[in-house]
Amino acid sequence: MKLFNTLSGKNEKLRHNTGKFKMYFCGPTVYSYAHIGNFRTYLLQDVLVRTLEVDGYNPCVVRNITDVDDKTIRDAMKTGTSLGDFTEKWTKIFHDDCRALSIKPPDFEPKATEHIGEQIAMIETLIGKGFAYVAPDGSVYFRISAFDGYGMLSNLDKRDLKTQELDSGGGKNLADEYNRDSVCDFALWKAAKAEDGENFWPSPWGNGRPGWHIECSAMAKKYLGKTIDLHSGGIDLKFPHHENEIAQSECANGEKFSHYWMHINHLLIDGAKMSKSLGNLYTLDDIRKHGYSPQCLRYALIAAHYSQQLNFTFNNLVAAKNALGKLQKFFAKISDGSGIQKFKITVWEFFGDAFESLLNNMNTPECLGNIFKKINEIDSGTLGDDQKSNLSREFSTLMYCLGLTLDEKEADVEVPENVKILAGKRWKAKTSKNFTEADKLRQELLELGWNMSDSRESYTIEKL
Ligand code: AMP
Ligand code: ZN
Repeated sequence: MKLFNTLSGKNEKLRHNTGKFKMYFCGPTVYSYAHIGNFRTYLLQDVLVRTLEVDGYNPCVVRNITDVDDKTIRDAMKTGTSLGDFTEKWTKIFHDDCRALSIKPPDFEPKATEHIGEQIAMIETLIGKGFAYVAPDGSVYFRISAFDGYGMLSNLDKRDLKTQELDSGGGKNLADEYNRDSVCDFALWKAAKAEDGENFWPSPWGNGRPGWHIECSAMAKKYLGKTIDLHSGGIDLKFPHHENEIAQSECANGEKFSHYWMHINHLLIDGAKMSKSLGNLYTLDDIRKHGYSPQCLRYALIAAHYSQQLNFTFNNLVAAKNALGKLQKFFAKISDGSGIQKFKITVWEFFGDAFESLLNNMNTPECLGNIFKKINEIDSGTLGDDQKSNLSREFSTLMYCLGLTLDEKEADVEVPENVKILAGKRWKAKTSKNFTEADKLRQELLELGWNMSDSRESYTIEKL
């Protein structure tokens, strides 16, 4: 399989080891629902894992759970829950969503709080080698001027970076305020502060907690070793998070960290960045409430190339639903009744082009295009038994790579047409400030057993 490697800036053939193909994916920070942008990243990583499996690699995936950081601590304290209980609740919700979306669980899913010892050990190594220093308050920082390779992933020139940060950060005061040698140095260990409550651990430098970046370096090393094959995350993580992971791992271990880096581009909503304050942040539950199944969302999110931004609108889900319907119908015609599974295919007879598209930098839109082209061409009625069996095995294997279950039971929560029309009318009345009419229509919807919730720019309909 070939992928675009952010590190080299080139499409490269992924080396085929006899052993495991070791991958590390940066996982969720568990303080709220994951949104559909996060799921775009996890879904495309899932397609990668499945395609590698079918292509004869032996993938081994670590995807961490960030269960301690500013946000988890802040929100756990706000709700009066212990950090452990709080993050456990959100981890469970994340797992439920992943299962619904048919995202395969990783081989290892380490939590940051369960690897404090490993993180402290790595920080001690970095201090010992002169790559990190202890500030007077007991925080520890990575000294990026000590690592020549800093910026290799995002092609940042070190001096440019410093100027950039100095300009935007208000000059040298910032560095003084945070007790750092240089503005670009980042925290490996954060000394305990009053607002952290009970959430600190003892360390050689006093009570505190790890900085965000070190957990990935420490846990990748523990579960996969000093050098891994591929590292991946959303494009926002390229800098500084991944750049910092490389610095920590390569300086502590003295070896290359990852051969390949894959970055998934962002999901936009109606052309804008998703954010709570804009009211355009959707979770899997929101999608269900609009009447679409997790499989519809999966299709819509994997249908665009991972290296391109994807502008999501509800039309994407309508298109996804139609496409899934066609795939389902085709499979029902050619299958012997068993569900989607992967087969070992040595020579492709029908869907070779579609599989090639996946092997060529995971071109999912081209793959889907090739699948539909073939479906339209083939008249399965004219095929002999052997050919029909090949057709079914190839199609099933491709659906496995894409993670499409084509399960009829996965039927959408159908919103009846009359309810959709009423909801549309009510939204129109509300947005044109005709509140009496809007209230009347809401009442009608309630009587039909449907609740309508509004956000700033849209609405959801939920069955009562
Ligand atoms: P977080 O929980 O914020 O650390 O993010 C989890 C994963 O989702 C990371 O790999 C992020 O890079 C990725 N991510 C965040 N926002 C988006 C988005 N709008 N589109 C695609 N991926 C995203
Ligand atoms: Zn990471």
